[in-house]
Amino acid sequence: ELFPKCIFCSSWPVSKEPIGREVEGMNILGLVVFAMVLGVALRKMGAEGELLICFFNSFNEATMIMVSWIMWYAPVGIMFLIAGKIVEMEDVGRLFASLGKYVCCCILGHIIHGLLVLPLIYFLITRKNPYRFLWGIVPALATAFGTSSSSATLPLMMECVEEKNGVSKHISRFILPIGATVNMDGAALFQCVAAVFIAQLNNVPLRFIQVITILITATASSVGAAGIPAGGVLTLAIILEAISLPTKDMSFILAVDWLVDRFCTIINVEGDAFGAGLLQCYVDHNEAGLASLGPELAEVKDDASVVPPSPEADPLILKTVKLGGPAGDANTCEKESVM
Ligand code: ASP
Repeated sequence: ELFPKCIFCSSWPVSKEPIGREVEGMNILGLVVFAMVLGVALRKMGAEGELLICFFNSFNEATMIMVSWIMWYAPVGIMFLIAGKIVEMEDVGRLFASLGKYVCCCILGHIIHGLLVLPLIYFLITRKNPYRFLWGIVPALATAFGTSSSSATLPLMMECVEEKNGVSKHISRFILPIGATVNMDGAALFQCVAAVFIAQLNNVPLRFIQVITILITATASSVGAAGIPAGGVLTLAIILEAISLPTKDMSFILAVDWLVDRFCTIINVEGDAFGAGLLQCYVDHNEAGLASLGPELAEVKDDASVVPPSPEADPLILKTVKLGGPAGDANTCEKESVM
């Protein structure tokens, strides 16, 4: 049964049937958008909004504590969930083979991202050798592999980028802590693979719009993931809910996460380090541009940047203001932080 001909092209018949359909379940994308808009609104409210921000922060902390208690029970829970699934399966070998393929796919994705994509971005923007930069942060990457935690790797990463890669302290100490909490390329990558893996395990074909939903929710949920071991698996539930897949199948992901998470954390911290390197390059270029303006103008600009609103009012501003000295000079920054 066809609707009257299309108004744009009379030869194309248009079906009466609606193209989309309503799906039962939680509206995760709506929640993500609402959360972002609420966050912006609360920030705009200033001091009044602080109250609700404090409430959500303490609610988040309490949830994290409860999750850490539940995690003690996790090995037993995972064992029973997997045992239940194995009993249901006709071919257990197939399950283990697909889990192995899932692990290999994640690791391969992390290797491509860490050894090709991130270095290429760094090279295209800075025109410097990215592998020399990578060599400087090898100890931090090894720590990320050993601890599976971006937060635990943070102090060593700061030391590596400052001492081996010449990133100034005021850049590394600003950008790396933000990166360790927000920038999680590795987590976003493994969450996408995990969602597709669980869809295939349940013989659910993914439509184009569901793939897009995975990409959007993986980006949002990786931002929300904590820089601790298995932080990304917890937020994987958001993606599975968004495309109506069973969240209990996360047990398979948890069973192999001790390995995948190590590679994931390496990529998470590597992305932060490259971010700091790029920012350093940007600052260096701007300072070079400033110098080319001529000594008088450069002096005026320097003077303008030296006057902070008030050290008492905002000590953080004093720490981040550049007082002069060559770019990438760690000693200059040390003087700044002492002030
Ligand atoms: N373990 C990761 C990190 O600390 C987070 C994750 O599980 O994806 O960066």
